[in-house]
Amino acid sequence: MTNVGFIGLGIMGGPMAGHLAAAGHVVAGYDLSTEAVDKLRSVGGRVAGSVADTVAGADVVITMLPNHPQVEQVALGAGGVLEVAKPDTLLIDMSTIRPETSVELAKVGAERGVRVLDAPVSGGEAGAKQAALSIMVGGEGGDFAAAKPLFDSLGTTVAHVGPHGAGQVVKAANQLVVGGTYGLVGEAIVLLEASGVDAATGLDVLAGGLAGSRILELKRESMVARRFEPGFRIDLHHKDMGIALAAARQAEVSLPLTGLVAQLVAAARAMGNGSLDHSALLTVTEQLSGR
Ligand code: NAD
Repeated sequence: MTNVGFIGLGIMGGPMAGHLAAAGHVVAGYDLSTEAVDKLRSVGGRVAGSVADTVAGADVVITMLPNHPQVEQVALGAGGVLEVAKPDTLLIDMSTIRPETSVELAKVGAERGVRVLDAPVSGGEAGAKQAALSIMVGGEGGDFAAAKPLFDSLGTTVAHVGPHGAGQVVKAANQLVVGGTYGLVGEAIVLLEASGVDAATGLDVLAGGLAGSRILELKRESMVARRFEPGFRIDLHHKDMGIALAAARQAEVSLPLTGLVAQLVAAARAMGNGSLDHSALLTVTEQLSGR
């Protein structure tokens, strides 16, 4: 049994905190949204009134926040986790953020005696709800081993992928594959429909062959029906494509398809679809095709 402080109880963090409470851990949670904290209360967690209140008494603090400014505010800011946590606390940031912020968190954490892991996830809302996430972890091997039982309560594929920031680099690679796949599934739907072929039947066949993917498996019906409630918002995927392109520049490599997908995601956002699910990338292809 571990005392866990959980900050960020949204689409992903809410169900994740619920799984930890269900596994017998003592969970205190904090979020700016009252709706989010009400859900934690309903699954047996304690609602904390501030970051400091969440961290007090916690052996492990987990953050699941939108982007690096929120993580920096909550972890590095005045009264933040790294200032108020007791020595030897383990801070696990599971948000998707730029790798350099993860490295900075680990550096400041080391100065203050707090151990830090970056542990972003893949698997979406369904993966969070079913405790079936893929979790990619950067940091010290001993800290990964200490956190592994908690990760096993949240996910089915859990891997230590390298030093601080490596988890975020793996997540960036994940996001460019996911974005590219959505783009191409959208193009397949537009081609099938414009050619008078039933898209649902066509995609059923694709899903059973070499073109098959988790995205075709889980999202083909909702895409054909144009149901785009999130899920994972275009706004967040826009952030992630920026992280992937910045990581590519840092690594001095050329990723032309990633650049194109980033522009398509930016277009979806510019069209006013930022709050829709990322499968709404399909709407960009429709516009480009005059449909
Ligand atoms: P979300 O917007 O649903 O949840 C974020 C939560 O953080 C919100 O409830 C918000 O109120 C809270 N928050 C923001 N600033 C805060 C602060 N300063 N203090 C306390 N709470 C604060 O987002 P989400 O979809 O759960 O995504 C969270 C992270 O997980 C993101 O980095 C995202 O990229 C990543 N992610 C999301 C998915 C997905 O399918 N939704 C999948 C994998 C990874």
